[in-house]
Amino acid sequence: MSYLGRFAPSPTGPLHLGSLSSALASWLDAKAHQGTWIIRIEDIDTTRCKPHWSQWILNQLSACGLQSDGPIVYQSNRTELYFQNLVQLMPTQRLYLCGCSRLQILQAQARSTSKPPLSNLIYPGTCRSKAALERQHYTNLPQEPWGTSSQTQHAKEYFHFWKFSKDQSVRITVPDVCYRWCDRRLGEQQQNPSHEVGDFVLKTRDNHFSYQWAVVIDDIAQGVSDVVRGEDLADNTPRQLMLYDLLKHTRPRYLHIPLVLTQEGKKLSKQTQAPALDPLQSSLDLNRAALHLGLTPSNHAIPERLLHWVQEWSALYKDPRHSDIKIG
Ligand code: GLU
Repeated sequence: MSYLGRFAPSPTGPLHLGSLSSALASWLDAKAHQGTWIIRIEDIDTTRCKPHWSQWILNQLSACGLQSDGPIVYQSNRTELYFQNLVQLMPTQRLYLCGCSRLQILQAQARSTSKPPLSNLIYPGTCRSKAALERQHYTNLPQEPWGTSSQTQHAKEYFHFWKFSKDQSVRITVPDVCYRWCDRRLGEQQQNPSHEVGDFVLKTRDNHFSYQWAVVIDDIAQGVSDVVRGEDLADNTPRQLMLYDLLKHTRPRYLHIPLVLTQEGKKLSKQTQAPALDPLQSSLDLNRAALHLGLTPSNHAIPERLLHWVQEWSALYKDPRHSDIKIG
């Protein structure tokens, strides 16, 4: 299986040490497997993401010698794709519209005894018994079934879908099933998402496709074989596995790298006031990211350093299932 890896930043601010470490790890893993590495800008939530941060991040990556091997894809240009794939899931009868606000979900959770409120927001399935989205849509577009449309019909459906689902999210029913995977660093993992999050959102109330949906559709569409990202996203993996299975697509391999923590032990992020990296100090920052990943900092020119780290990375993280791939 050929290797395709990606770095998928959300442009809500500049890179910090944590996100640079993810970028470097995913690049090194791709190169260690003689694979391809691409950048995808996850700017689906146009209220939080800003174009100038996309450019800023790309400049930061480029200053660190991390160049995409293919065209850079922007999620904000791909809503049609996310919509078309959602249409494919309609016949499963697992999608439904939900008008619950966060407060209503919290209140419903507080009434249930299963988990202490606020520990984790678990959707209690309030709207699940509503008609399946497919059926609701048929009621509105009686003679023209989903998924068999001409272009005009498709445009009509597309427009109709947004209008029809305005102020309502589209959720997917999560079965009471444990999803397991073997993470290349964390080892055997498992989670039953119905106990942790419940039915989750594929399209938000304010009409954006959700991270869970867009990331899976893009990883499939782009042919991503290996996901290398921060450990904070590990608990999203089971939801994504569920979507892979439902879409009948082979799951990628996963490697979740350790998080960069603040002195208080919190994840370094914009919320924890992570200092933005200065593009003029990329050489230094690259060394800090390498050190975080267990590699040896060096004063060589960036391209030489990267080459050396590929060798070090291979020794640390080469996946035995890639044994057919020779490291140069
Ligand atoms: N866009 C996500 C983030 O910036 C990463 C998504 C992923 O790697 O799956 O946290």
